[in-house]
Amino acid sequence: MTLRLRLTLWYGTLLTLALTAVGLVGYVASVREQYLTLDRVLVTSARLVETGIRRSGRSYALEADTAGPGKDGIVMVLRSYTASGVLLDRSPTDPGLPETRPRDPLASPAPPAYQEVLPFTLPLPVASQDNLRAYGTLSVNGQRWRRYVVEIQRAGATVGYVEALTPLSRLDASSLHLARILLNVSLFSVIAVLVSGWWLAGRALRPVERVIRAARSIARSEDLAQRVPTGHDGDEVGRLPMTFNEMLGRLQAAWQSQERFVGDASHELRAPLTVMMGNVALLRRHPSLDAAERDEMLGEIETETLRLSRLVEDLLLLAQSDAGETLRLSPQSLTEITQEAIRDARKLANRHLITLEAADQPLIVSGDRDRLKQLLLILLDNAQKYSPPGTAVQVSLHQDAEGVRLSVRDQGGGIPESALPFIFDRFFRADPARQRATGGAGLGLAIARWIAEQLDAELLIQETGPQGTTFLLNFPASVAVPGSSGLGLGES
Ligand code: ADP
Repeated sequence: MTLRLRLTLWYGTLLTLALTAVGLVGYVASVREQYLTLDRVLVTSARLVETGIRRSGRSYALEADTAGPGKDGIVMVLRSYTASGVLLDRSPTDPGLPETRPRDPLASPAPPAYQEVLPFTLPLPVASQDNLRAYGTLSVNGQRWRRYVVEIQRAGATVGYVEALTPLSRLDASSLHLARILLNVSLFSVIAVLVSGWWLAGRALRPVERVIRAARSIARSEDLAQRVPTGHDGDEVGRLPMTFNEMLGRLQAAWQSQERFVGDASHELRAPLTVMMGNVALLRRHPSLDAAERDEMLGEIETETLRLSRLVEDLLLLAQSDAGETLRLSPQSLTEITQEAIRDARKLANRHLITLEAADQPLIVSGDRDRLKQLLLILLDNAQKYSPPGTAVQVSLHQDAEGVRLSVRDQGGGIPESALPFIFDRFFRADPARQRATGGAGLGLAIARWIAEQLDAELLIQETGPQGTTFLLNFPASVAVPGSSGLGLGES
């Protein structure tokens, strides 16, 4: 069952219940009151006759001018009987009703007259203790008559009976009419609510419908560029398409970056493989090459193999970072790790003057020793790759109230401003033409930033220009382990 149908049925059921309850209570209360009023009129009329008979042996109420239809249009028939139950006198309003036995209602009183027109039985009012007065109901020619009989006693002996009768046909008909009106109005209201509920639910759920259609269409076409048309509704359901579109946007960006990553990675992997395969083919085809040429080719194969294995290692690390892998952190001496990284950088390419300016005592941060060293090597390697040989690369290490800062400053040509927003992106190179010369695949800074994030540190470009570039690694005070040294100068 659809949500729209379910909502509509809920509305309908609740309204039907409410209308039934209100209608029933209103109907019962109004009908009951009208029948009881009629009963009270019967009592008053019978009492009038009874009083007359008690006082003077007869009642004027039975005469034509007093016994006509009342102002309220109620026809009242009044009769008096002898002690043995023989009809003695009747008002001129009597349309010739059959004679009745006045003792019958006294022997078995009738239930309230409204009981007949109610759809259920109401609890009966407490019966009167006085068995000299009682109500009865007659059926004459298919019409109901309500009667009220009073037994008149004098000194304990019955002297006669008084009876008041009134037809119930008008009240019965009007009660039936009222019931029909209530039923029709309720039916009409329920149908109107079902129709408007169906329309309203459809309108309210339209954004959901649009999202479902878009999701189906995306699943069929695998086109994440599709968007759901958004309306102007600011409610929860109205915001759904916008939220869905935001999610699609993010999915599309993630998908595109994944595609780019796979494309770039295969491109990067292909380049060294092509060089290696070319050299191997040459060596096979020309077995008589002299030793120097063979050495050169084998050297190239070796360089490309190293490049390839570095690339595969970087890709693996990035894949781990994408998989949400985290580093195990423990207190590390940043000073010691920096000194070690500088030693390694010198070993790899000793064409720059790398200096370290640091505190005497070791600065301790929370980190992963190997990854921290990898980050520093990436910065030192870049500083050497992108600045002229013989220039200085200055590393400085400080701690102040805001935390621990490590900066790597080179005297290269700087990073073009247009490249700055992308410098930490995977496979991004500011100058792709220099790719082969530097041997970089554009993954270094992406890895460095991931490591920095893992250490809760910040890696940024402090300044860059024709005088050189300074990368800054910032460990906030909350990450720097307290108790490490103050400032000082040292040279490694
Ligand atoms: P690569 O492997 O190409 O060095 P990186 O991610 O480490 O990749 O660096 C991305 C790009 O940023 C480099 O290709 C280079 O253009 C630029 N870059 C990085 N460090 C420096 C620097 N110290 N000076 C100038 N340019 C730099």
